[in-house]
Amino acid sequence: MNNLESSLQERLKKLADARTIPFCYLCYSDAPSGVCRSCLSDDLMKHLPGHGVEYGSDWVIRALIHENLEPLNLDEAFQESIRECYDATVKIAWIECDTVQALRELDPISWDLACSEWADAEESAGLIVSFDHGSTYFWAHDIECFLDEEESKDNSFCDEAVQVSTE
Ligand SMILES: [Zn+2]
Repeated sequence: MNNLESSLQERLKKLADARTIPFCYLCYSDAPSGVCRSCLSDDLMKHLPGHGVEYGSDWVIRALIHENLEPLNLDEAFQESIRECYDATVKIAWIECDTVQALRELDPISWDLACSEWADAEESAGLIVSFDHGSTYFWAHDIECFLDEEESKDNSFCDEAVQVSTE
């Protein structure tokens, strides 16, 4: 995990905490203070309203991302990168054809392989991020914008609270 990714993970984890309520599975009730008032347990799940209850942050992060962001169309993004690297058309004898189309049709297996290698490289560079082991990817930039937006919501919420208390 590179620096960008770990800082994103950290921010996502904070967001997951902010958007969930600690939940005692034993008593089946919210425990907003972080300790269950009935059984005094602090071994609590997270309750994401509208989604359910479960231990850990990963599932909350996955739910928040998949609910709010458009996943990356990997094939389209790879096509774009190929168009940046190679000429738009290739000539095979007397036929001039679209480079991407030719590649895909002449060797679909090689295309798919190159596409997944490209995804791996983009992921190690921190440009794209997956929360489900590579089934879907999101642009790291989109996640950053999403986090900026969500974090600013919380800040304005805090400001309002301060204003109310000083009135
Ligand atoms: Zn309890």
